[in-house]
Amino acid sequence: MLYSKLFGKTSKTSKQYDTKNAALLEQAGFVRQLMAGVYTYLPLGLRVLNKIAAIVRQGMNEVDGQEILMPILHPADIWKQSGGWDNVDVLFKLKSRADKDYALGQSEEEVVTPLIKDLVTSYKDLPIKPYQIHWKYRDELRAKSGIMRGREFLMKDMYGWFKDQNQFDVFYEQIKGKYLDIYKKVGLTAKVTEASGGAFSKKISYEFMVLTDAGEDNILYCEDCDYCVNQEIAKDKGSSCPKCKNKSLKPAKASEVGNIFDLGNKYQESFNLSFLDQDGKKQLGVMGCYGLGISRLMGVIVEKYNDEKGIIWPEIVAPYQFHLLHIGKDENVIAKANALYKQLLDRNIEIMYDDRDISAGEKLADSDLIGIPTRILISAKTLLQDSVEIKKRDEEKSSLIKISDFLKTI
Ligand SMILES: [Zn+2]
Repeated sequence: MLYSKLFGKTSKTSKQYDTKNAALLEQAGFVRQLMAGVYTYLPLGLRVLNKIAAIVRQGMNEVDGQEILMPILHPADIWKQSGGWDNVDVLFKLKSRADKDYALGQSEEEVVTPLIKDLVTSYKDLPIKPYQIHWKYRDELRAKSGIMRGREFLMKDMYGWFKDQNQFDVFYEQIKGKYLDIYKKVGLTAKVTEASGGAFSKKISYEFMVLTDAGEDNILYCEDCDYCVNQEIAKDKGSSCPKCKNKSLKPAKASEVGNIFDLGNKYQESFNLSFLDQDGKKQLGVMGCYGLGISRLMGVIVEKYNDEKGIIWPEIVAPYQFHLLHIGKDENVIAKANALYKQLLDRNIEIMYDDRDISAGEKLADSDLIGIPTRILISAKTLLQDSVEIKKRDEEKSSLIKISDFLKTI
């Protein structure tokens, strides 16, 4: 990508931001706010979002999820049938010209349960785990925290049906491990907490929390073991860890980056769904719902990986791996930089090339703000040694490397 041609460059604004991810992502040219809680993803931002989505998709396929794509626009009937129309306060409701009621999906149990009823009849077909990666809508009274708490957000939602509690529990352990892997891959450490089951489920739900001061959840966690609980339901505040008994629990702010609900048979009952067991008897089975916020994850990554100069993207989700720039107006320098850019493109290297005729200071500041993992700098000085200067965004030191060697190592 030639930076001179990029749609959505860095910008300086006097706007007040409530979180670092909102400020950095907008100033660095990744997103643009349309209104509170609703963002446009510009080319750089969309590349990051797609990379996170690809990691999540791979993880879900590895636990035998099957990707589908369900509608965002729902008829009101299905929400009335589940009771959600009157009970889900964040449900966006709208009316058509013909005065019919509709809802925008904030979760899709109401769509997927009738789908399962149409397509799956036997216990033999369980477990079955369709999922999608799609936009969700929540009528938040106050949307804030940048892309971490949106009215519109990208989410992976999987729904699972199981013969019995045991089959559900086996899969819970499997997907819990997969979720923790996914967070680790993108550079985050998540804690699994128990929380209340939300509007519909009297059962416990599991939340995946990443410690961050920008988070909106208050948790208590143990520094010695993996015990962690949402303060909402904590009975043991101030006392020692109920699991290892070693330490008293520590309070922290965290952001929920995933959740798992054991929905029991709530939706089977609402939609009259049952499966035939081996004796031909109708059974309700157990249903689970598995959410993972993709746009939120992007916000949390920025909250964790930044410094006073800008974003520091972990390689796996970075929009590009290399940020090439030349310094000075020397024609030879520009020609060498152009040639290197072409050579790297030919090798399918993900590279952004700042080919603008602006000051070195501006280019370096922009490169730090955008946060691509490795900077390649060419100047008259580096060319005296046929070299480029390589600097990792998360390191202070830089090193000179011969261009020919660099091309060999890449
Ligand atoms: Zn403990």
